[in-house]
Amino acid sequence: MVVDDQDAQGLPGTADVLIVGAGPVGLTLAASLTAAGVTAVLIDKQAEGANTSRACVVHSRTLEVLRDLQVSEHLVSRGLIASKFTVRDRDRVLMTIDFGDLPTDYPYTLMVPQDVTEQVLLDRLRAVGGQVHRPCELASLAQDSDGVTATMATGDTIRAAYVVGTDGMHSKVREHAGIGFTGDTYAQSFVLADVHMDWHLPDTEVMLYYSPAGLVVVSALPGGRHRIVATVDEAPESPDRDFVQALVEARGPRQRPARVRDVVWSSRFRVHHRLAEHYRAGRIFLAGDAAHVHSPAGGQGMNTGIQDAACLAARLTAVLREGAADAVLDDYETERRVVAAGVVAMTDRITRIATIDSVPLRKARNALLHALDWVPAVRHSLAMRLSELAVDPHRRLQH
Ligand SMILES: Cc1cc2nc3c(=O)[nH]c(=O)nc-3n(C[C@H](O)[C@H](O)[C@H](O)COP(=O)(O)OP(=O)(O)OC[C@H]3O[C@@H](n4cnc5c(N)ncnc54)[C@H](O)[C@@H]3O)c2cc1C
Repeated sequence: MVVDDQDAQGLPGTADVLIVGAGPVGLTLAASLTAAGVTAVLIDKQAEGANTSRACVVHSRTLEVLRDLQVSEHLVSRGLIASKFTVRDRDRVLMTIDFGDLPTDYPYTLMVPQDVTEQVLLDRLRAVGGQVHRPCELASLAQDSDGVTATMATGDTIRAAYVVGTDGMHSKVREHAGIGFTGDTYAQSFVLADVHMDWHLPDTEVMLYYSPAGLVVVSALPGGRHRIVATVDEAPESPDRDFVQALVEARGPRQRPARVRDVVWSSRFRVHHRLAEHYRAGRIFLAGDAAHVHSPAGGQGMNTGIQDAACLAARLTAVLREGAADAVLDDYETERRVVAAGVVAMTDRITRIATIDSVPLRKARNALLHALDWVPAVRHSLAMRLSELAVDPHRRLQH
């Protein structure tokens, strides 16, 4: 469980940057700014951090970015390395994407529960002298040419040069900045379950099963658990063992089917695909789920958000510590919004292709994927995309 600093009382009256929301994105931003000598104040309305495993995939590019913050080695030591991603239709492998050849020091996908990622980021924030002010809820924002005044639900105020909303999908910062959040909601729900189960396929592989009933993703987690993610039309709020067993039986391997022994944690949630119309409104910025939400297929959400935070931290540091011109901050939206637009489109495609229910179309899809599996350049390009190594313009400039 993430243990936090329980002292909303110690809230300072001023800051260079006020960060609203201490999820993985806010923690990354606060630790990066504090390490660079910028006075950042991080607040969260919850009395303590979330302790559920939610986003479990950390991709190569995120590990590269977090290495600068000295957290990647800690994450790797607590995660499980998956070097392959396969797309399957029951027992047939349609495509194998190998991360082992990626041009990075982290040629794999790291499976690590989100509460562990948040704990590692919080440890780093504390190590560089920062903290989370909890419970501390933002109520309103008013900006002028010199700064932003943020008012908390308690009536306390903070005056900051800049405010960043890392306050998730229902962002109050986004609402106060008047930024639209366009997109839609998937008709289906997503089921997530962390289970103990008998499973004969390797722990080093993440498997996406296509099925007319909906997709199911199976991956191993540290501690002998497996993560199941599936799309379903109707699901109970906390799916139980029998529900998850029926899902993997209907959609997973036929030969040597899985046997779910128990469910450690499960959840059902509706997924939206939405993108903020802007990432900046004057002195207010958005990052993470406040700026983009999409299907969890491909495990891109938290990764894209952490990379937003690293990009914005570098730009705010350049302006606040190194005297760079304000225009540097405009580049944040130029650089990162296009990445999120690509992620929203890609995850939408994966989700729709995975759930095709017309038999002829399914056959055509499977044949096409199987044919593409013979083309190494296609497999490599998909690995570069999924690992987010290909989509970060900053990295393309570095390499
Ligand atoms: C059940 C579930 C399962 C998921 N599974 C996956 C998955 O399998 N793969 C994947 O990639 N992603 C998944 N996600 C999404 C992933 O968890 C998010 O992408 C990630 O948490 C985004 O991080 P964030 O820091 O932007 O926002 P969040 O983690 O949402 O953090 C926002 C923080 O802001 C705080 N806050 C909100 N409003 C205020 C306010 N007014 N004042 C102060 N604080 C405020 C909240 O308390 C919260 O701590 C899942 C999400 C959920 C809910």
